[in-house]
Amino acid sequence: MRLNKNPKKGIMAGEYKRKRGTMSEEKSALVLRDVCKSFGTVTAVKDFSLDVNDGEFISLLGPSGCGKTTLLRIVAGFEIPDSGEVLLDGNNIINLPAFKRPMNMVFQRYALFPHMTVYENIAFSQFLKKRPKDEVEQKVKKMLELVQLEGFEPRKPNQLSGGQCQRIALARALINEPKVLLLDEPLGALDLKIRKQMQIELKNIQEKLKITFIYVTHDQEEALVMSDRIVLMELGEIIQVDTPKRIYSHPNSRFAATFIGESNVFEGEVQKVDADQLVINVDGLQFLANKNIDVKVGDKIVIAIRLEKVGRAGKGVKRSFDNQVPGKVEDIVFFGSIVKYYVRISENIIMIAQENIAEEESEIAAEENNIGDTVTLGFTKRDVNIFLE
Ligand code: ATP
Repeated sequence: MRLNKNPKKGIMAGEYKRKRGTMSEEKSALVLRDVCKSFGTVTAVKDFSLDVNDGEFISLLGPSGCGKTTLLRIVAGFEIPDSGEVLLDGNNIINLPAFKRPMNMVFQRYALFPHMTVYENIAFSQFLKKRPKDEVEQKVKKMLELVQLEGFEPRKPNQLSGGQCQRIALARALINEPKVLLLDEPLGALDLKIRKQMQIELKNIQEKLKITFIYVTHDQEEALVMSDRIVLMELGEIIQVDTPKRIYSHPNSRFAATFIGESNVFEGEVQKVDADQLVINVDGLQFLANKNIDVKVGDKIVIAIRLEKVGRAGKGVKRSFDNQVPGKVEDIVFFGSIVKYYVRISENIIMIAQENIAEEESEIAAEENNIGDTVTLGFTKRDVNIFLE
């Protein structure tokens, strides 16, 4: 469990200190140091520090207005930060104009030239660089193979689907062999099915080319599927930087626990501190949690438990839980392969248990519970994430 008294500052400070002035900084493709940017009274990016590794797929994830695009534009050179540094291979590139940076950007709205063919769109930058015709032809061919659109050379953008337009936009960016590719919600305009397919394809292309991708999205599932690491942001600041797996299982704050995936979040008070476990009072109930946080009796804390970590406990159930709590089923909602049970466990608290109904182990579902039934819910103490706020 990743826990920190001050998750916003602490994680960043740790990451920054670990890498600052070391060999790992030199190996990073891109380093952002204490970057700040305001527009009038609006703070878009605040004290933002991050090391992006060479060949890494990193996602900037957060709600609308949290500063993701501003940050991408700062890296691209379209926006000058008020303070801080942007280092590429150890060199500060703040004063390097956008067109001189070895980077390309892919936008949500493709930005293809409508009057040009697919071939001309992809080849455009090569024409500007006055590359030989044969070489350009070879490169365009390679790019069209990469994005699986061989034979599309003579078409115009209005003869393409949204997904095909975005592949051409990607090919047009990749033909420059950028060191870093910046992608601003590139799949945002596509329908869900194409979007999911393109997520996998984009990830495969990135793995094949080993180019550093910085990917902006507000879609948590997209970030989980594609990224090597996720940078979770809120109000211009970093909340947590971690692998998808760790950020999902060990959120460092109430915000992380609820923005990525769903959690039962309750406020409580530390009632007892043992060597390796805590007893927490939540609305008169006692919950056990692993002691991964430095707290004392009386401290106010927030706990978060993933919905799928709450199961049915009690008689006849094989799984054993450190915490067992009886309650009354208030609602049952089916979402296709999963079902959610809303169970009142105290006067003020409803706990949600989520079960995969395809699983044989689905114990609540197997019992065919109804609204109004009494059930016992269970969860283990290692699945209780704790935060000080
Ligand atoms: P979204 O997901 O909606 O695109 P975002 O996370 O990319 O949002 P930004 O576009 O970076 O957010 O904006 C961050 C904040 O800065 C917002 O409050 C926005 O209104 C403000 N902002 C961005 N650009 C400008 C500008 N040119 N002038 C004034 N305010 C701006």
